Amino acid sequence: MKRITFLIAFALFFSVLANAQLGRRINVDRALNAVSQGVQSLTITDAQVIEYTNEYMVWMDANNPLVKTTDSDAGKQAVAERLANIVSVIPQELIDRYNLDIQAYYVVDVNAFAAANGAIRMFAGLMELMTDDEILAVVGHEIGHIANNDSKDAFVRALRVSALREAAGSVSGTVSRLSDSQLGELSAALANSQYSQAQEFEADAYGFELLKQLGKDPGAMASALGVLLKLQEEAGASGNSRFASLFSSHPDLARRIETLNAR
Ligand SMILES: [Zn+2]
Repeated sequence: MKRITFLIAFALFFSVLANAQLGRRINVDRALNAVSQGVQSLTITDAQVIEYTNEYMVWMDANNPLVKTTDSDAGKQAVAERLANIVSVIPQELIDRYNLDIQAYYVVDVNAFAAANGAIRMFAGLMELMTDDEILAVVGHEIGHIANNDSKDAFVRALRVSALREAAGSVSGTVSRLSDSQLGELSAALANSQYSQAQEFEADAYGFELLKQLGKDPGAMASALGVLLKLQEEAGASGNSRFASLFSSHPDLARRIETLNAR
């Protein structure tokens, strides 16, 4: 497996919007980019954010090894089949509500993320360390970020600090196509964004409740985090960079596990 091609970072960074009221406008404060290109403020509709996200995910999927159940490579095929089997218990109603599209990248990184358009990407490196229920827990956590609309602010912030600023600022009812460099800037900006602790706790709770609702052991949410915590401790001891970026976005693992156990 190779490393993921882009700086998309970690589990959980940019999610959603799927259930936001379309058409509501987000007014971004003007302070940060007042000096640039005369763009005094950025106004972008939720629908436009979804369009940008769709484009971003097409680019991500084109540039990272997405696995398919029809893959001729046995390793990739096995990962795709395993994930398809794990998520087959998720009710169609939930899939439809958030337009969920859950797939895996054949990369060694221990990570996962959810995007505003309902895309969830699990990384094979994370999957190989977890049980099926733990993987389902992580998927549930990601759905939680989508359901809670966590990423809208992060996404718009990323737009604001990236070259997209210009494209997004010239809103004329249509969204212009993004260039490779704009997509790269967006991924870098997203890699630097982070969910709040409160958002992470909420997403954990969502994953926990989903497991319960599906008749699975809700303890798998805490044990999935336990896998990450163990890696974090090992990485701390060895300085292994494979995990370093993941944990920068996942503070307080121990506290999150305690909270889930109390639940
Ligand atoms: Zn998260």
